[in-house]
This record gives sequence, structure tokens and C-alpha cells, in this order.
Amino acid sequence: MKRLQNKVCLITGAAQGIGAATALKFAAEGARVVVCDLRQSAVDEVLAQCQALGAEGLGRVLDVTQRAQVDALVAEVLQHFGRIDVLVNNAGITQDARLQKMSLEQFDRVIDVNLRGVFHCSQAVADAMVAQGSGVILNASSVVGLYGNFGQTNYAATKAGVIGFTKTWSRELGPKGVRVNAIAPGFVATPILHTIPDKVLKDMEQRVPLRRLAQPEEIANVYAFLASDEASYVNGAALEVCGGLTI
Ligand code: NAD
Repeated sequence: MKRLQNKVCLITGAAQGIGAATALKFAAEGARVVVCDLRQSAVDEVLAQCQALGAEGLGRVLDVTQRAQVDALVAEVLQHFGRIDVLVNNAGITQDARLQKMSLEQFDRVIDVNLRGVFHCSQAVADAMVAQGSGVILNASSVVGLYGNFGQTNYAATKAGVIGFTKTWSRELGPKGVRVNAIAPGFVATPILHTIPDKVLKDMEQRVPLRRLAQPEEIANVYAFLASDEASYVNGAALEVCGGLTI
């Protein structure tokens, strides 16, 4: 039997990057995937790749900042599959500027997607998971949330914030059979890095003992482990997956 056989897994921000790699990995592990992102055409492409791996699934537009959309999607998933086993709170954005230059709009937008969006989705699935007596919530943190990063006041605060969520919800939901964990990746080769100058990325690679960026699949593999029953005693963790960058 595959590691995520028949588990119903909702992945936000799944049209590209780490989210798409996670949807594909989960599909390959036997999951029923709910692929969500801002654009239907992009969602459909990833869902088709999941279906080509033999997975059942749904592809839906979901803006995690819109609570009504989140509630409607979770209701649809429960109606369609009768349960929800795994939520991967992957959707995230950056809007970088130094503290003295950051606009309130930049600050609010990143808080809205990366922090409030995670709250919306997790609150929306929590009752169903508690009623089932099982479930897994996985949050996208970052090494930036642990150690900070130049120009990322807003982003660092959200990525530290989701670790706070993770530890709080693992205490609240653990007794009900629901595990909550976070992954703190280092720098992963996805479109989110496109705003970072090449020279900065090259310097970054040199600081990693493995001397390279991560590939999205290397983060997806860790999500798959944490989502599976193999991680049955992992709860409240913020797992660094950074090639040793922070040593
Ligand atoms: P990405 O930009 O490639 O993909 C993010 C996805 O989120 C996009 O498809 C985008 O459309 C979607 N999204 C944005 N706003 C949304 C919203 N309001 N509602 C729903 N979806 C929305 O990014 P990525 O590199 O794959 O990052 C995925 C997650 O991993 C993010 O939370 C990011 O902060 C985190 N992360 C990334 C890195 C990295 O180096 N790439 C490192 C650490 C953590």
C-alpha cells in the first residue's frame, strides 16, 4: 500500500513551485488531491498531471485570504469525499523592502496571505478533523522565520507566526488525534525567488554546505513523510529542510 493511499489532501498554492511538487508527490503516494490556487487554468494543469499518476482529485480556484471561498471549498470537499485528512498550508508570497521603506500595503498583503490565509484554512478544516479523530495540518514556514532576512520584515514575521500557530494547534488538536507541523525550508528553486538578484542567489548557494538550492521535490518529499502515518509521533515540530544553511 502507498504511503498516502486514499487520504484526502488539500494543498493551497498548488499551481507551481513547492505546492505543485507536493500535489504530484501526494498523488504518486496514492492520495486524493484537492489542488487549489488563484487561477483555474494553472490548477487544471497540475490536476491533470496528478490524474495521469492515477490520482482522483479536484482542482479549484481558492484565494486563501477570502474566508467565504475557504469555507465553501472545505464544505465541497467534505460533501465530495466525506472527509479531509491533510491540509498543506503552502500558499505564500513575498513583498520585500527594508523596514524604513516598507509600505503598509506591502506589510498587510503578506500578513493577509501568509498568516491570515493559514488561519482561515486551518480553522475551516479543524472541526472535521476533530470529528474524524484524525488529521494532519502542515504549515509552510521558512528559515527566514527562524533567523530573519534582510528586506523581509513582513515575510519573516509571518513565517515565525506560522510556527506559533503550529505549536499552539499541536497542543489544542493533538489530544483529538490531529497532528500539526511546519517545514522551514532554506532557499528552494521556484518562481518565488525570481525577484532575488542572481548574484545574491549564487552567494546563498555558497553558504549552503550542500552548495546548491533545494529543488521543490525535496520539500515535497518531507511534506509526504509528515502527512503519512510514518510520522505518527511527529507533532508540533518546525523541521528545517535547508541543506545545512543554518548550521
Ligand atoms: P511560488 O511563488 O512558486 O508559489 C506560491 C503559490 O501560491 C503560487 O502558485 C501563487 O499563485 C499561490 N498564491 C499566492 N497568493 C495566494 C492566495 N492569496 N491564495 C492562494 N494561493 C496563493 O512559491 P514557492 O517557492 O513554491 O513557495 C511555497 C511556500 O513555501 C510559500 O509559503 C513560501 O513562503 C514557502 N517557502 C518557499 C521558499 C523558497 O525558497 N522557494 C523557502 C521557504 C519557504
